[in-house]
Amino acid sequence: MALIVAKFGGTSVASPERIKNVAKRLIAMRERGDEVVAVVSAMGKTTDELMSLANAINTAPPARELDRLLSTGEQVSMTLLAMALEAAGHRAMSFTGRQAGIRTNDFHNKAKIAQVHNDRVKKALEAGYIPVVAGFQGIDELGDITTLGRGGSDTTAVAIAWGIDADVCEIYSDVDGVYTTDPRVAPRARKLDAISYDDMLELSSAGSGVLQSRAVEFARKWNVVIHARSAFSDANGTYIKEDPQMEEAVITGIAHDTSEVKVTIRGVPDSTGVAARVFSALAESMVNVDMIIQNISEDGITDISFTCPEADLGRAESTLDGILSEIGAREYEVDKDIAKVSIVGTGMKSSPGVSAKAFSTLGDDRINILAISTSPIRLSMVVDAAQATQAVQCLHTAFGLDSESVFEETQLSAEEIAAKMQKGR
Ligand code: ADP
Ligand code: ASP
Ligand code: MG
Repeated sequence: MALIVAKFGGTSVASPERIKNVAKRLIAMRERGDEVVAVVSAMGKTTDELMSLANAINTAPPARELDRLLSTGEQVSMTLLAMALEAAGHRAMSFTGRQAGIRTNDFHNKAKIAQVHNDRVKKALEAGYIPVVAGFQGIDELGDITTLGRGGSDTTAVAIAWGIDADVCEIYSDVDGVYTTDPRVAPRARKLDAISYDDMLELSSAGSGVLQSRAVEFARKWNVVIHARSAFSDANGTYIKEDPQMEEAVITGIAHDTSEVKVTIRGVPDSTGVAARVFSALAESMVNVDMIIQNISEDGITDISFTCPEADLGRAESTLDGILSEIGAREYEVDKDIAKVSIVGTGMKSSPGVSAKAFSTLGDDRINILAISTSPIRLSMVVDAAQATQAVQCLHTAFGLDSESVFEETQLSAEEIAAKMQKGR
């Protein structure tokens, strides 16, 4: 008998039929003797819809109100799943983040879990209920509802798994595991049987949407085993865990991220302290600067470029508007059509030549690299958004990651696939 936390993402609970299917899966687990706690995301695109509703009323909605609104999405699916379980003759009880004991800090829209007190969930389990927990939310010290950032239900699931000391945290989605890259972008992507926390964390942080990076971070810290698998099949997925036997692949996978923008400040005097002034002003405005490129100066004048999340662009622009004349720079321009493509692998640190191979591969395909950054286990390159798919595919082939078989879509409607592609653009 195992104790399992089973998290179902938005696509898996997108309709009444799919919610009934989730109920069937949970019941099957119970019938084979396992104990299970479910964690759910909001149905389908509910969170996006709530977000645009808020934006239609107020283009800068107060973070506290936005969290209260967004948290309702998961509260709908948790109650419907509990009802589906009851309709199938099983006792179930739904819990909001607060009721499930998820305490967070007060960083609305991106709160971090501070404490987990799953007493009610444990009691419900002991009393024979299937607890169903709303993902993505908690409460802060004041008792206000907070949300954990997009994709945050993954983190709820890992936190509950830790809180109840579950044997495994199963994350069910519309793909049957973690692939060497997004199989919708490169259909020759290969499914991994297992991946280390470090490699997974790097892939998630570099933009691979399959698991929220916070969830992986939490799992690594507290040694929670994650099993990423399909909501539509019984096939084994990918285990994310620490295993000293696991081979350190030079390249584990490739991620891409289209959520960043590039800002170039032109005509900057190349004098001491200018970069410090720019980047401390951006930091004060809470702009999350990722990559920085300073070009070689000509006649004491240079350009400075940086990338940051598109969500921070408004704050970056007003900061630069405020300091441009002070630092004596001419102007700045924004390029939104960029993508960051990252090659990840813990084995990279002891294997020279990865960068050279990546650059020449992109060069041969006439893909211009706009910015580069590296860490011991990651190489990131910014390219034109229109060339992102091609970049991922040619790097995937060049690093020998291609699989013999081609990824096949199962169960999703044409509209859902289109929405996924849009999200990944
Ligand atoms: P959920 O809504 O269930 O949380 P997500 O959409 O957040 O699911 O995550 C699953 C999606 O992640 C897949 O549909 C796939 O397109 C995308 N994805 C990105 N990178 C990868 C990868 N390396 N392996 C598998 N899926 C990936
Ligand atoms: N519903 C939230 C989102 O769409 C959280 C989640 O699905 O994990 O980001
Ligand atoms: Mg997700």
